[in-house]
Amino acid sequence: MQNNKIVVTLTYGCQMSERDAETLTEFARQEGYTSSNDLASANLVIINTCCVRESAENKILGKIGELKKLKEDNPNLKIAICGCMVQQPGALERLRKRAPHVDIWTGTHNLPNFPTLLHRAEQGGKAAEVWPEPKIAIEATPLNDKGKLQANVNIMSGCNNFCSYCIVPHVRGRERSRRPEGIIQEIKELVASGCREVTLLGQNVNSYGKEFSPAYDFADLLHNVEQIPHLLRVRFITSHPKDLSDKLIETIAHGEKLCEHFHLPIQSGSNLILERMNRKYTREYYISRVEKIRELLPQASLTTDIIVGFPGESDEDFEQTLAMMSLIHYSQAFTFMFSKRSGTLAANMEDQIPLDVKKRRLQRLMSVQNRESLEWRQHMVGKTYEILVEGPSKTNPERLTGRTRGYELVVFSGSPEITGSLVNVRISEAGSWTLVGEIEGLEK
Ligand code: SAH
Ligand code: SF4
Repeated sequence: MQNNKIVVTLTYGCQMSERDAETLTEFARQEGYTSSNDLASANLVIINTCCVRESAENKILGKIGELKKLKEDNPNLKIAICGCMVQQPGALERLRKRAPHVDIWTGTHNLPNFPTLLHRAEQGGKAAEVWPEPKIAIEATPLNDKGKLQANVNIMSGCNNFCSYCIVPHVRGRERSRRPEGIIQEIKELVASGCREVTLLGQNVNSYGKEFSPAYDFADLLHNVEQIPHLLRVRFITSHPKDLSDKLIETIAHGEKLCEHFHLPIQSGSNLILERMNRKYTREYYISRVEKIRELLPQASLTTDIIVGFPGESDEDFEQTLAMMSLIHYSQAFTFMFSKRSGTLAANMEDQIPLDVKKRRLQRLMSVQNRESLEWRQHMVGKTYEILVEGPSKTNPERLTGRTRGYELVVFSGSPEITGSLVNVRISEAGSWTLVGEIEGLEK
């Protein structure tokens, strides 16, 4: 009887990190732990880390520091620090010195080996392991938290793009695609447990299957996933603009369950900076991709990521980024100040931009985007959208929430019993962050 062991998992960073955190939690459940949010009652705390920007690392280091006090109050508590931050070359030694109260350290590549490390720690030892390369097939860890309406499914891992600012290829390794059979099997199991929407995850889903022979690409995978009965929606993230093919846009245009939302990170609107970033597209090419999307899918939503203050970014370069925001009309943008990541090319580039300039540019960018996002929501007022009902709103439990196919969040009145179904909602009001609407009728 080990039912009284509690695991609390905290995760930072992208959806792929969240997905890894689910796997780690599942491993702990298999060892008899029950998952909870209550740190005070935890026997095991797992932190799945992110190192994409310094701000994420600082937040995590602060959290690891806080756990020291918890461990002093409860010496039997085990602490596991996992993922990208630990995987950075040379990081393990530095981190171990800084946080000797941690019991388990593991990088990204040896994540499937977590149960062995947990056993070691439970027997009173310390366990620290980082593999420089992946040794276990990506197919080996499709452990998913079952019974949820929405699930994230990894279709590939790693990245080959080496954008000059980015640490991801250094901590996630080279790109590898999962075989479609395994992906489809995993989604079928999720659907059998109640899942209705899946998000297919990869650092660049557009290059899925490049290594496969006979040829089978991301559009083929979407087509096959769409055939799975009782699945209502398919999303995907992230699309690198350089690899966004006409075939893919056409497949989404014809697919009934394939959601018309493209997260298409532009990073900068200046060709000079795009080249220094090693993004391998120009602003003109990016615009041509957006035009193709708008031609075949006029109702599609576009979201993006933007970095301000990349080394060498002039006022003129920055103005070009601002101009792109007004040209494209993103529904949402994730905006970041450039952060030096040791081991990346951009960290050692000349012409680093002072912090105050980065802050000012970020402020301006955010205010332009807030205006754009509001205008985007306002253009939806009076129109009807298909919503997957996610259940009672967290901030207003009297109301239900759900998302459009374009990923916009909508709040509306209705019975919680319709959670998990598709309804048509007419938008009546555009708030600063959400939309308000009324159900027109139960569709499916
Ligand atoms: N594979 C995805 C996302 C990678 S990380 C892609 O290619 O878009 C998510 C976002 O973090 C990136 O799109 C980028 O905007 C941002 N980012 C990555 N490295 C960064 C750095 N060093 N400083 C600031 N932002 C960064
Ligand atoms: Fe990083 Fe570029 Fe790869 Fe995205 S495509 S993970 S930004 S290197």
